[in-house]
Amino acid sequence: MLSVKVKIGLEIHVQLNTKSKLFCSCSTNSENSKPNKNICPTCMGLPGSKPALNKEALKKAMRLALALNCSFPKAIFFSRKSYFYPDMPKNFQITQYEIPIGKNGSYQLKNKKIGIWRVHIEEDPGKLIHKGGTIKTAQNVLIDYNRAGIPLCEIVTAPDFSSIEEVKEFLSGLISTLEHLRIYDPLNGSIRSDINISIMGGSRVEVKNVNGIKAVEHAIKYELSRQKNMVKIGKKIKMETRHFDADMGTTVSLRTKETEEDYGYIFEPDLTWIDLTKEFISDIKKNMPELPKEREKRFLKQYKISRSEASVICMNFRLAELFERVAKQVDAKLASKWLRTVLIGVLAYKNLSLRTAHIDEKKLIKALKLLESGEITEKTCKELIIKLVNGEKFDPANYVVEKRLKKVADKKELEKVIKDALKENKKAVSDYKSGQKEAIHYLAGQVMKKTGGRAEMRIVMERLKELLNSI
Ligand SMILES: [Zn+2]
Repeated sequence: MLSVKVKIGLEIHVQLNTKSKLFCSCSTNSENSKPNKNICPTCMGLPGSKPALNKEALKKAMRLALALNCSFPKAIFFSRKSYFYPDMPKNFQITQYEIPIGKNGSYQLKNKKIGIWRVHIEEDPGKLIHKGGTIKTAQNVLIDYNRAGIPLCEIVTAPDFSSIEEVKEFLSGLISTLEHLRIYDPLNGSIRSDINISIMGGSRVEVKNVNGIKAVEHAIKYELSRQKNMVKIGKKIKMETRHFDADMGTTVSLRTKETEEDYGYIFEPDLTWIDLTKEFISDIKKNMPELPKEREKRFLKQYKISRSEASVICMNFRLAELFERVAKQVDAKLASKWLRTVLIGVLAYKNLSLRTAHIDEKKLIKALKLLESGEITEKTCKELIIKLVNGEKFDPANYVVEKRLKKVADKKELEKVIKDALKENKKAVSDYKSGQKEAIHYLAGQVMKKTGGRAEMRIVMERLKELLNSI
């Protein structure tokens, strides 16, 4: 395939996990609230109301800016971004334009450094609900302002990505970083990206509001092939903004791109300059939680697992947390292997994750202990993990006894079974000796049958090979 020079940049929005909104004391938790319950004159933009900055949101965004190696300005202020739309009753959004909290940062991928242009905070608008149809066909549009004023952090990267893989690596790393910083709760909504894509130095196309990593992958895939086809048939790629239709997996044109100036940014006079003093910044630095890459290094030393294992575990905050708790009670290498491959594999097969599945941790540790002590086979351990993921109610130790799944651990017993199998299957033995090596699988099958599947396949194969070669 023709290699095409691809340039991708991201603008990412994440909700900061503060208790109250960015400029008022309304709750950010509207899970059990009716529409328009978590509102006040400030987030509704009523005349006479004045915003006051939530310091927690500022501190959390500064932690992220620091984790992304950004530099801080001496002081910050906020701007009004004017736009007229029913989701924003003030007709402007309070955001940062001229001076963001952090700028000129970077994020290290495996093989490349990605530039971070800026990190800033802003308020979320309200939510439009199109009753009985889509944006084009709905008869009525309702507005819920519970979200109006919720703190968002925006991260803008340089257009340094040249493949979907790099974008995915960055987004997974970013999510893990956000969770390690304790500033983001994935249950409160996925990360939202605007993607800028251009090929072969052509015009930049922006795909707006893409939710989660999977959709970003699909949107880029579609957009790259669309742009390549345009070039192929000799058409010019227009600079424009497109919308990603997640159901169709396609992008459609929204409008030709407006420039930032169209928003008419002005200084927000209701909020003053905020000095980021040395003391304030050093306090943020002092209280920085461990970042995924630091944790990865610690795992190498503390648990003696390989770099690639540590890297996979630390890219998933919940997995890293679970691993550390399990490794207190079970051998770390065994825990790493079984959590990273078997548990995550079973979860993925069921379209679940550690976030959405409720794994009984005590039972998980019990199952791994049974494996560690040699009481059950790997096959049985996997069976127990599948039951745990399915949320079945059982006790691993009792289950193993009831179902007679205890491993044939007695060497003498296993030796006798293997020798019996060889005696009873002379044809398979002579087939093996005459070069048909696959006959060993038949013999191993006979051994497993005799033990009711309670022997460790790896050990059976090893011993069979030794005995067959000595005949
Ligand atoms: Zn409010």
